[in-house]
Amino acid sequence: MAGTATHCPYCSLQCGMALAPSSDGPAPVNVSGRDFPTSRGGLCRKGWTAAELLRHPERVTEPLVRDERGALRTATWDEALGRVASEVRRIQAVHGPDAVGVFGGGGLTNEKAYLLGKFARVALATSRIDYNGRFCMSSAAAAGNRAFGIDRGLPFPLTDLDAADAVLLLGSNVAETMPPFVQHLERARAGGGLIVVDPRRSATAQLTDDGAGRHLAPAPHTDLILLLGLAHVVVNDGLLDSHYLAQRTRGLESVILSVAPWWPERVQGATGVPAELIRAAAQRLAKSARTGSCYILTGRGVEQHADGTDTVTAAINLALLLGLPGSARGGYGTLTGQGNGQGGREHGQKADQLPGYRKITDPAARAHVAEVWGVPEASIPGPGLPAVELLRTLGMDDGVRALLVHGANVVVSAPDASTVREGLRRLDFLAVCDFFLSETAREADVVLPVLQWAEEEGTMTNLEGRVLRRRRAVEPPPGARSELWILNRLAELLEAPSSFPTDPQAVFEELRAASSGGPADYSGISYQMLDAGEEAYWPYPQGSRGTPRLFRERFAHDDGRARLVAVRASTGGWASARPRLDEFQLATGRLLEHYQSGAQTRRVSTLNDAQPEPRLQIHPAAAERLRLEDGAWARVTRPGSAVPEVLCRTELSVGIRPDTVFLPFHFPGLAAANQVTEARTDPISGMPEFKTTRVLVQPAMRE
Ligand code: SF4
Repeated sequence: MAGTATHCPYCSLQCGMALAPSSDGPAPVNVSGRDFPTSRGGLCRKGWTAAELLRHPERVTEPLVRDERGALRTATWDEALGRVASEVRRIQAVHGPDAVGVFGGGGLTNEKAYLLGKFARVALATSRIDYNGRFCMSSAAAAGNRAFGIDRGLPFPLTDLDAADAVLLLGSNVAETMPPFVQHLERARAGGGLIVVDPRRSATAQLTDDGAGRHLAPAPHTDLILLLGLAHVVVNDGLLDSHYLAQRTRGLESVILSVAPWWPERVQGATGVPAELIRAAAQRLAKSARTGSCYILTGRGVEQHADGTDTVTAAINLALLLGLPGSARGGYGTLTGQGNGQGGREHGQKADQLPGYRKITDPAARAHVAEVWGVPEASIPGPGLPAVELLRTLGMDDGVRALLVHGANVVVSAPDASTVREGLRRLDFLAVCDFFLSETAREADVVLPVLQWAEEEGTMTNLEGRVLRRRRAVEPPPGARSELWILNRLAELLEAPSSFPTDPQAVFEELRAASSGGPADYSGISYQMLDAGEEAYWPYPQGSRGTPRLFRERFAHDDGRARLVAVRASTGGWASARPRLDEFQLATGRLLEHYQSGAQTRRVSTLNDAQPEPRLQIHPAAAERLRLEDGAWARVTRPGSAVPEVLCRTELSVGIRPDTVFLPFHFPGLAAANQVTEARTDPISGMPEFKTTRVLVQPAMRE
């Protein structure tokens, strides 16, 4: 292999990349795919073009501070960091430690995520820290913890899917969001065992064409009912794995009762999915579970709901009824989205957690981490607020008055985005670490320019819970700094009572110690072993060989058993709502060409040329009703709401239900899908409702 071995900066598949120096072309390195188990040399077009951003003309390469006229101007690092420290001190002196908040990101390396959590609790003494993974993985994480006592996206190596006879894939469009993933579905697909649940006939749903599986397209927000219906068939037809359930689980009786009312014909009435398809899908899954290999996977489509934890729980219940989790012939997993969505939630960025995926309320965990940090246990704040609630307090009298943002673009990615922007404008002070002037950075009083992926060392944890090395292949611009350096300098200025190393390996060593004994134990992992090519799946206690497959012997609850948890669906819902003719359920999601808020991919010319703006996907019959032609401008609003509208062109598609419209969320301003999504959240996980917002669609004029 020629070049530096590293991984793609974007999604959780963390495809293997080699970076070779280049002196011609727009990027300082040539990117090639390299052999790695999740990607096997494959990359999608986001990965191929990622290096173009390293020398992008819009890159921020010097610190910026807002002057008295309200404009951002360049500044020295001393001035910029001095301003951050003095504002933090001033605001905390008046309003208390929790008046300063920290917002992190699921793309930060493990080292940065760890040090950011420590910085918030030790240097700022604030409980107000959370991160954008709350919008991404929180409901699946809560459901995993509830059922298994631990949450790791895939509790098995991704390559185990290669042998699957059947895969039930709910709410994930992997063919667009992470194309190299699709190769792992090939056996199930070829044997007709791929079952895709999606209200749209997405690129992934199309993999089931020509008898290569089934596409089930439930009405908006009825996926929980569909899952209860599948479980009903498993119970009613005697397809459950009784021995496994007796030996390894608790709660079976309550789940049997909870699925009893959801016979297929009733589920058909609520979801629109034909009863015979529901029966056939359940029987196919059960047959593969019994005689071959079967997996159930969830993605954001079923997770990003205000009852997301219960919906994922229903998927886990189905997997448990079939005897899959922890067996050698299948399992349940959730497909993490962001590059370090897994590691990002393990090391202390979450409002309620300490490193090692420990609960911040657990006295033993607090004592352990306090010792590693060299601070009194009592000085570590308690749990803070989950992301949406934290953002709701911005600029409020008793809320967050100053915010430090690392690796997130909340103006585009948070629900009810215009309210979030208003909150940022109410703040006394906003500092943003980024390498572009993202829509959030544009609102900042101080912008701190940071390194990009190919300019730094560190580790990431991919969707399998596998820890990987990120490696430096390119010199950064002289004015940019790593977040580790920034946190170190700020901690010094704030006279923090602990050390903040700048060397990623030194931070990782501290992370190992802090995570030791926790659910996500990294203590047996080292840079040396990763550099030697050894596999490292957590939990990896010192002296062990790591854990590629979780739950083989026991689940992580004290009694070793998984929990079946009865969940209930509301009846009626959208199908019986008799909406207005111009009323739809809006689902948001991703495009092949763009990643998250688009702050990076919108700046890559080939990606932006291919998808320069969002299109509102709408069924031709619905469009005709509204006199909307393909490409016509449409206005999307929330009924009875004063929130701003979205203006965008339409794209007619027979691949979407007539009662549903779809908008990608990668675009800012009037094209921002999150202008109309609501900040309604799941009471258990804090996950916002991104997938079903009642909207009105009307023709619009645009110059
Ligand atoms: Fe692979 Fe995801 Fe990067 Fe595409 S964006 S190359 S799928 S890691």
